[in-house]
Amino acid sequence: MSSSYVIIGDGIAGSSAAETVREADPDASVTVITDEGEALYNRILIKEFAKGKLPAAPVSIHDPDWYAERDINLQLNTHVTTVDADAHEVHTHAGDVYEYDKLLVATGGTPTQLPVENANAEGIHHFWTFEDARAIKENAGRAEKGVVVGAGLLGIDLAAICGAQDVEAHYLMRGECWWRYALSKEGADIIHDALREKGVTPVFDSGVDHFETDDEGHVSAAVDPNGDRYEATFVGAAIGLDFNTEFLQDTDLVIENGIHTDEHMRTNVEDIYAAGDITQFHDVLLGERAQNGAWGSAKEQGSVAGQNMVADWDEPAETFEWVSSYSITHFDFPFLSFGHPTLGDNTVERKYSDTEWRRVAIKDGQVIGGVLIGDLAPQSALKQLARDQVDVRGQEELLLAESIDVDQFEAVEAE
Ligand SMILES: Cc1cc2nc3c(=O)[nH]c(=O)nc-3n(C[C@H](O)[C@H](O)[C@H](O)COP(=O)(O)OP(=O)(O)OC[C@H]3O[C@@H](n4cnc5c(N)ncnc54)[C@H](O)[C@@H]3O)c2cc1C
Repeated sequence: MSSSYVIIGDGIAGSSAAETVREADPDASVTVITDEGEALYNRILIKEFAKGKLPAAPVSIHDPDWYAERDINLQLNTHVTTVDADAHEVHTHAGDVYEYDKLLVATGGTPTQLPVENANAEGIHHFWTFEDARAIKENAGRAEKGVVVGAGLLGIDLAAICGAQDVEAHYLMRGECWWRYALSKEGADIIHDALREKGVTPVFDSGVDHFETDDEGHVSAAVDPNGDRYEATFVGAAIGLDFNTEFLQDTDLVIENGIHTDEHMRTNVEDIYAAGDITQFHDVLLGERAQNGAWGSAKEQGSVAGQNMVADWDEPAETFEWVSSYSITHFDFPFLSFGHPTLGDNTVERKYSDTEWRRVAIKDGQVIGGVLIGDLAPQSALKQLARDQVDVRGQEELLLAESIDVDQFEAVEAE
């Protein structure tokens, strides 16, 4: 009898798993369920669409025909409400039931709502879907003043959208710099200057206490905890993700800010796998549990999960071993973060010029991540050091050399 695979989520993790499963098991029944109204699109590109610089077409990756041609049953606009792990069943909002032999949960996250007064007002946007991007594009296109909240990788996309759409914006941040967990003030100042050049003013030691609205319920201003008021008819908020796990509450899955998996994307419940942003996976390079929020990582986890779903539960075929990357292309200089730049027990960093800076994060003597601004050339050497788990203790200066020679480290280690 042929196997039956059900995949919840048609983001890059779910879609890549479906493709992998289909290639490995041509006779299997494969179902992909998503609560979005459109098939896989490029989430990385929706910010360029919202800037008004990219037409919609290149953002789409698959149309429904792609699934039909591969005999994959795609269910759009279908929200999974419960999973019955004992019966091996998935239940949807429409009352449909899908039986599975193997199940993949690839449901990612939903932006966390700001817990402040009037946070639901018209004109306040969270950013995750193509639908969100369409609304952001439209509102930013007519707004003159804006506010952005959330000093991380998604917040800066919203700030860049304001810049591209000529919205005069204030970027309200906690603390004294953008992405303070991964950058020092010296590194972040490069970003702050670049934001100012785009007409976005960073405001430090700030945030949002509440929003004001006009008579129609549209946002008109943000007031920060210091009592300062910033007029805005466009607000972009990106303060984090809530992981989409409510439908798993009847299962015994271990869920703590995401679903626990091992390095083979297996959960603690037999025949259930998880992949993508939703996972708190065992990171073999880091030696502990970790979470990635990056496209390439989600794609690879989907592929690893797919390969293991067609194998026996007890004999996984593939291991997830990966140094992820996330780049920002909003400025005249490149920016890349890799691995886990906010973790570790030590960091080394250096500024090389007005637009060049580097920080490397180290844990137990091994490179585990970092941030490169301006010059990305060292990325392959740094990632290789991370992948090869090279002991860099006592050689940290070499990590900051203008060009990095991996062999130099290995030579020292071998002595
Ligand atoms: C604006 C933006 C810019 C980004 N830029 C970059 C970048 O430059 N570089 C980078 O590496 N990464 C970037 N990312 C992050 C990257 O897009 C994600 O890490 C990646 O898309 C995660 O893929 P996923 O498949 O795990 O989850 P998702 O893409 O979130 O897919 C999960 C899917 O599951 C669906 N779902 C959830 N619950 C249910 C349910 N109960 N029933 C049915 N369906 C459900 C969701 O609607 C969604 O379609 C960006 C993200 C955003 C939002």
